Amino acid sequence: MRAHPRIWLGGCSLLLLSSLAITQLSPLLLPQVHETYEQSERAVQDGQYQMALALMKGTLYSDGVTIGIEGDHAERTAIVREAAQGWNQALEGDSPIRLVSMRENPQVIVKWVPQVPAEGSHTLGLIKMRKEFRWNTTRHEVGIKGTIYVATQPPGSPLSRSEQVDVVMHELGHLLGLDDCGDLGPLMGPLERGKPVGAPTPAEVAAVTGLRRMVRDKLSLVNLQLSRQTTTAGRRQLPQEHRQTSPHDHGKIAVVESQAK
Ligand SMILES: [Zn+2]
Repeated sequence: MRAHPRIWLGGCSLLLLSSLAITQLSPLLLPQVHETYEQSERAVQDGQYQMALALMKGTLYSDGVTIGIEGDHAERTAIVREAAQGWNQALEGDSPIRLVSMRENPQVIVKWVPQVPAEGSHTLGLIKMRKEFRWNTTRHEVGIKGTIYVATQPPGSPLSRSEQVDVVMHELGHLLGLDDCGDLGPLMGPLERGKPVGAPTPAEVAAVTGLRRMVRDKLSLVNLQLSRQTTTAGRRQLPQEHRQTSPHDHGKIAVVESQAK
């Protein structure tokens, strides 16, 4: 008799049974991602739907997240494009990352610097992100700003082109919600010089796709709930000028700042 089908994916991975439905966030995701998701669940339970929508859309980047390269440098743009395409392939076209020129005022800027502004000279890359979630009772908004740094003068020799692709892909992994992994080998592990990995592991991909599926499911539930409310509320809506207030006015705000190497 054959054993139950399963895939062993090594360290920093999960034992996956093929029939197991994903109902929990992967431990490979950043603690902030778990916290934001739990906050959005509580907001749904409390009927704070606009807050829940802001938190979920900021996690999913449902309008996409735009990335620019400082100076629109051609070779570096090609490196970031390769890293972004690597993720898009791994996610089967479901990557929210959109490369734009600096003229289009990107939300996240990739900068090459001699040394990454972080503790420890062995750092090859860094991402700093700031997400602002704003909402009131009728509307919500998400503001995303970030910087990705890549070191041009790390200890030892400069990074090769494929190592730079790996560093950018690793930082984009953080952007998509993944945490660092202590083991050598996976994309989210430390870069072993001379041995770029080129792609996320199946477990890393499953963590991101699982997160995106769970957030989307919850988003459609909230939208369904809201459309029911609108139908039952009928004509008891607020006057036009009240409905058009920005979430900046009389609204609430939550800021999540994160930094990962
Ligand atoms: Zn990292």
